Amino acid sequence: MLRIGRGYLWFLVLAMAPGCATREVAMEVADVRWSVDATALERTAARLGNDTAEHLAWAKAFRSRILEGVGPRTIESTLVPYNEMMLHLDAAKNECELFAVVHPNADVRSTAERGAQDVNKFLTDLKLDRGLFQAFSGLDVSAADAGTRFLVEKMLREFRRAGVDQSDEARVRIAGLNDEIVKIGQEFARNIRDDEREILLDSPAELAGMPRDWIDKHPPGADGKIRVSTRYPDYIPFQTYARHAQGRKKLYIEYRNRGYPKNMEVLNRLIARRHELAQVLGYDDWADYVTEDKMIESAENAQSFIDRVAQAAHDPAQREFNLLLTRKRQDEPAADRVEDWERAYYEQLVKNEQYALDSQALRAYLNFPDVLDGLFTITQRLFGVTYRQVQGLPLWHGDVTAWDVYNGNRRMGRFYLDLFPRNDKYGHAAQFDYHTGAAGLRLPQAVLVCNFPNPKESPNGLALMEHEEVVTFFHEFGHLLHAILSGHQPWIGVSGITTEWDFVEAPSQMLEEWCFHPESLRLFARHYQTGEPIPMDLVEKLRRAGDFGKGLQTAHQMYYAAVSLGYYNDDPKNLDTTALMMELQRKYSPFDYVDGTHFQCSFGHLDQYSAIYYTYMWSLVIAKDLFSRFEEKGLLDSETAAQYRRFILEPGGSKKAAELVQDFLGRPFSFDAFRTWLEKT
Ligand SMILES: [Zn+2]
Repeated sequence: MLRIGRGYLWFLVLAMAPGCATREVAMEVADVRWSVDATALERTAARLGNDTAEHLAWAKAFRSRILEGVGPRTIESTLVPYNEMMLHLDAAKNECELFAVVHPNADVRSTAERGAQDVNKFLTDLKLDRGLFQAFSGLDVSAADAGTRFLVEKMLREFRRAGVDQSDEARVRIAGLNDEIVKIGQEFARNIRDDEREILLDSPAELAGMPRDWIDKHPPGADGKIRVSTRYPDYIPFQTYARHAQGRKKLYIEYRNRGYPKNMEVLNRLIARRHELAQVLGYDDWADYVTEDKMIESAENAQSFIDRVAQAAHDPAQREFNLLLTRKRQDEPAADRVEDWERAYYEQLVKNEQYALDSQALRAYLNFPDVLDGLFTITQRLFGVTYRQVQGLPLWHGDVTAWDVYNGNRRMGRFYLDLFPRNDKYGHAAQFDYHTGAAGLRLPQAVLVCNFPNPKESPNGLALMEHEEVVTFFHEFGHLLHAILSGHQPWIGVSGITTEWDFVEAPSQMLEEWCFHPESLRLFARHYQTGEPIPMDLVEKLRRAGDFGKGLQTAHQMYYAAVSLGYYNDDPKNLDTTALMMELQRKYSPFDYVDGTHFQCSFGHLDQYSAIYYTYMWSLVIAKDLFSRFEEKGLLDSETAAQYRRFILEPGGSKKAAELVQDFLGRPFSFDAFRTWLEKT
């Protein structure tokens, strides 16, 4: 389930590209407005509101400059001001979308939500602006460089996809629908975020099996009850280790009901509005529309891909399911099923017993400060960069830290780490863009938002992580590096993470590999008491055990992907989201539906990803192929890493993703490495 939470990005609108009138104004903007060191990150509601209004005012001014331009269209009179405009809109959108979910102050969060609505409305209007469309249609870029030509081609397609050439009446409807969809999406997310649940346990005896440090953090309350919440640092260890089966089941049901019942109706409305929008734009349904500009190109291809992966995963998943069932029968001889809420628990036991991997022993080598240090060491060494902490900055919370990324003496960008849980904070793990970079104008800035155990919360500074959390950390950091290293293209529309959406998870999923191999693990996994590096046999067990569960995981992911596609690939007038979810679970998942649960109400990606949750797996297929080069040359091979940085990361979205992959591999990508990985036992 962690995968559901793994990162997402806010670049949908930025698939369009950016724009002021003269270079002088541009320089002024670059020097004053976009200095990294002048960036304010603490924010009051008033300050954020003002900043957003100011960004929007700049954006309006640049838009007018383009529209009022006379004479033949040139890059200088059209693309340059567009780029400036988009720098402002990108900043306003990202600042609001970040603070809406991380800022400790409720006024800032609600100001941010309203700001995000205003910016999204402006962006939607832009895409439907015929004057702009005509300006770009009349722009001759035949003599420009390949990146500029690619950008303009992409922009014109985005204009058409937005409906710019529809009738006046249709365009009004499209704008209204887009606006409504943004608001429904925010409502959907808010209902999940606000619905943190807990179960009450009667006595410490019900915590049998839980790690000692976790128990210490969960003393009984004044009423004698122990509270276990649906937040990750509670939910995941409890599902994994608690022997108390009924407790696990109760917590699972609460977890799978977050957002319920409120989001049942919200989700129906979201799907219905998207369907209507797709129809106005001339598509059969939303899934056809949303897949068209991805690597996969159509809903039909997406369905085939889901079925192809599900088929490849079928036998490995069945083998693993049987192992879990065999283990369960030691506890319950009459058992004929393993339930979804028993999966993490029995997986852990099988790994522990069959692969002799004691995940609690493993945790002793994964203390948060060592993991952070290891992640930094490995990525700095691989990608030839250094990180320097920036002290004394006003930030939005005392737990947040800021880091500058240097290439030699050249600063490449800045990132922020907001890694520990607190009230009212985004509950998953994700990378957020703060400012998308553009060469000569602005350095990229990005943020990691996670929920790891906090060393400050334990008396001895100890924060032992689950290996899965370490994997999440590397994953999200893969997005962050992509954002920083790709953020140096001249046009913001192809700078940063602007490749096709279904490629975006490839660099992050590839970086996960460094959590499973001795060359990298031995660099940072040390015993928190003795300082001794992780023993080789433990790494070997981890690798074998890490492979266990991948068939089930893959099958389960295809269930989620099928739900996401299935909700959006037909007329929703008779859609019963619970019934279809149950049907698809039977078809794709080895685990039965658990009565009374409504997981679709907290499946946040139904908004952000809509029909295209398949993208994770599509990216994984590519990630496995990319990683095969490192497997061959060594995980710390700087030459391979330099090529990877140059061919995959640095171009951002200035080329088709399939070409980036081909440039790095020297051939088109294939399914083979993924299949080999899946079948290896
Ligand atoms: Zn991700």
